[in-house]
Order: sequence, then structure tokens, then C-alpha cells
Amino acid sequence: MSRRAVFLDRDGTLVHPRRYPSSADDLRLYEGIGPELCAVQQRGFLLVVITNQAGIARGLFTEEDLEAMNDHLRAELARLSVRLDGIYHCPHHVDGVIPALSISCDCRKPAPGMLLCAASDLDIDLTESWFVGDILDDIEAGRRAGCRTVLVDLGTEPPPTKPERMPHYVARDTVRALHVIQAIETREQVPDPDYRPSGWSGTRGEPVR
Ligand SMILES: [Mg+2]
Ligand SMILES: [Zn+2]
Repeated sequence: MSRRAVFLDRDGTLVHPRRYPSSADDLRLYEGIGPELCAVQQRGFLLVVITNQAGIARGLFTEEDLEAMNDHLRAELARLSVRLDGIYHCPHHVDGVIPALSISCDCRKPAPGMLLCAASDLDIDLTESWFVGDILDDIEAGRRAGCRTVLVDLGTEPPPTKPERMPHYVARDTVRALHVIQAIETREQVPDPDYRPSGWSGTRGEPVR
């Protein structure tokens, strides 16, 4: 039987947002996410990080630097008893400076390539899985892969104009996003029913249909 996953964006979703984090010191986990990630994991979901890292194509840091960041992320989560089942990254960007990486690829979100790859590698049923991210490119990637999606609303995103960028649910932070997933999975009432995403038109509360 295929497995289920909660896919997680890294920057702004697992760790505090920062422009082009390039070393382990730049990665600071959000407070309070450990127990929620543990609970999701105990429910049988794989935890897989899906991250655009165009800084590699832009020459801002290397694959080795990213590997060090990944080691740090795994170690910090392990201290909270959370085990990552995979970390997938896209190193590409069309405006990069490293020719081999300066391409239009199938993996950079909003494309679903990294999720499709993870699903194949880890035997994941995407339709039984979730994607949590802080921007609409995450939502689009998740939807195009067939996942349900939760936007962590950091107030950066305009209201979506295309259906494939419309999150299924919106939460004000990652802890609450993980609550939403658990609530849906246990058919409980979704928390924060009155929450309205900042700057959105008022009709797109939580849940978003
Ligand atoms: Mg992000
Ligand atoms: Zn790519």
C-alpha cells in the first residue's frame, strides 16, 4: 500500500524566512513545530522537505553548503524527535550564473517535479498527501501534484487569481497548518474558522474551497 506524506516547504514554513539563507546559522526552526511534526509523523505520514534553492544557480552558495544546511536541519529536528524522510531541492534558475543550472526545469516550484520524484522514490500516494508552504508557488506545485494544500499565510501573497493557486486551507502559522491537517484527518472541526488571510478579499477564510 502506498504511503502518505506531508510535504513541507523549508524557508518560511519550517524555518523563519530569510533571503537566500546560505549557511546552517541562517536556519532557525519555528518555535513549537516539533510536537506537531511528531504527531503528524506518528499518524503515519512521511515528512518530506521540498525546497527551491535558486541561490545555487545564482552562485550564492554551493551544493556542499546546502548539504551542510540539510545536515543542520535534520539534526535540529532530530533533537525534537522528528525524522525527515527526504529533502528535495531545485538548484535551478533561468537567471542563474552557473550555466548548467541556469535552465527552465521541471522541478522548480510551482512545477510539481520534486513531488513527483519523491512520490516515485518513496512510494507516496500524492492524492492522500498534503503540501504545506508559505507562498502560492508552493500551493500550485502541491495542487498540480494532486495533493491537498495548506498555505501558511505570512501576509506576502496576493489573493490567488487562478484556481490552481488557491489553497485548500489557510493557516496563520505552521503549527496551525499542522493542526488543520490533523483535524481534517480525524474529521474534527478545523481550528480557527474565523481566520481571514491578511489582505485577502474576505471571502477566502479557512477552509478555502
Ligand atoms: Mg517558503
Ligand atoms: Zn529545478
